Amino acid sequence: MMLLAVLVLAGATVIDGTGAPSRKADVVIEGERIVCVAAQCPRPKDAEVIDATGKFVIPGLVDMHAHLLTHPWDEKGDLEPRWDRPSVKQMLATFLALGVTTIRDPGSETGDAVMIRRQLAEGKLAGPRLVTAGRILNASSFNPEPFVTVRTEDAVRDEVRWQAAAGVDLIKVYSSMPPALVAAAIDEAHKLGLPVIGHVQRTTWTEAARLGIDGLEHPAPWSVEYVRDADQASWPESMFGRVYWLEHLDPKRIDEMVAELAKNRVVVDPTLMAMHTKFWGDDPRYTQNPDNQLAPERIRKGWPNGRFTKGWTAEQYAASQKAWPLLLALTKKMYDAGIPLVAGTDTPTPWIVPGASLHDELRLLHDAGIPPLQVIKIATSNAARAMRKENELGAVKKGLVADLVVLDRSPLDDIGNTRAIAMVIQRGKRIQNVGPALQPAQ
Ligand SMILES: [Zn+2]
Repeated sequence: MMLLAVLVLAGATVIDGTGAPSRKADVVIEGERIVCVAAQCPRPKDAEVIDATGKFVIPGLVDMHAHLLTHPWDEKGDLEPRWDRPSVKQMLATFLALGVTTIRDPGSETGDAVMIRRQLAEGKLAGPRLVTAGRILNASSFNPEPFVTVRTEDAVRDEVRWQAAAGVDLIKVYSSMPPALVAAAIDEAHKLGLPVIGHVQRTTWTEAARLGIDGLEHPAPWSVEYVRDADQASWPESMFGRVYWLEHLDPKRIDEMVAELAKNRVVVDPTLMAMHTKFWGDDPRYTQNPDNQLAPERIRKGWPNGRFTKGWTAEQYAASQKAWPLLLALTKKMYDAGIPLVAGTDTPTPWIVPGASLHDELRLLHDAGIPPLQVIKIATSNAARAMRKENELGAVKKGLVADLVVLDRSPLDDIGNTRAIAMVIQRGKRIQNVGPALQPAQ
């Protein structure tokens, strides 16, 4: 019989990710699993004991919106035809070093994503656990990789079946999909046991919730249906139109949407970073962000030209920054209604640094008015539940996989302290060569 290595984190303050208050405890890890979390755990005599007095243990973090196979941008700001293997390997290592032990890719090149997921699971590639969608179903002719155009119910069902056969974990539908096609995707995916998430707009969030969608991406639907009747005709359908949208909402329709999301337990992944990096798209906090050095160079050098707010004027940025609290208020409204939230970033789109940006996302969720204990739950056990893996990961709990982050300072005192990483443990193993340290929160 092979004996499993035993590692004891002794005397830590444990924040277990379930929303329970922090407590002093030992965490005992045997092989890949947590076998005891208690004030007094039995310690085998050959166990390796790490004194974690004064340290804080949280579950490994989950970025629920990480586009691992993003293609680099060329000098014109267009996407190159292929994803870049060295960039992907660098991103994977960076996630792990920065405490992100699981990522969910919400849209990827189907076969490649499944292959990389397998290599990660088998330990042949260093990086977080990967949960992945396949190509993103879209009804318009916008279809660079990883999008696929599907215009009929039959085409939708066929694509879903192919992705299921390839082994994806979930299905993703995109903004131009009308309700009938979203309904077909949900029906086919659910028959095959797969959840569906949407970055939907033509189908409103209210409709998507009624159709049984499992998750919604990004902080708002941006559908014109939520704008007050009198203001709908002047709504500009553009990136900057999102500011107009925030300023002209019909509160009754938003209330109805929130109620429908809550009733149907739809998981919302606000990806506040995806909007903050647009509303502050020319700000030194992003253009001069010291974290940028952590992003692969080939990806990073495309950001100035690839960004979605290219051409915005100073007035447009000022107006969007003024509207930012409206977006945070919408996130808080969903949180207060009991809608399960998760934490995603949209990395590595412009200015969203792999790994580091998840820590920024936690800070933005806290800015919205969510207490740190709940922010940690959002980024750990809520994510695990949304991925149907709550019996496997997402909490510091006996029986779960030992994906843990040890912090030097309390994230309950300041959520920015999730950056104070002392150690990352993945599947029971300490991650060596943690790489460049994170800057303190700004
Ligand atoms: Zn995305």
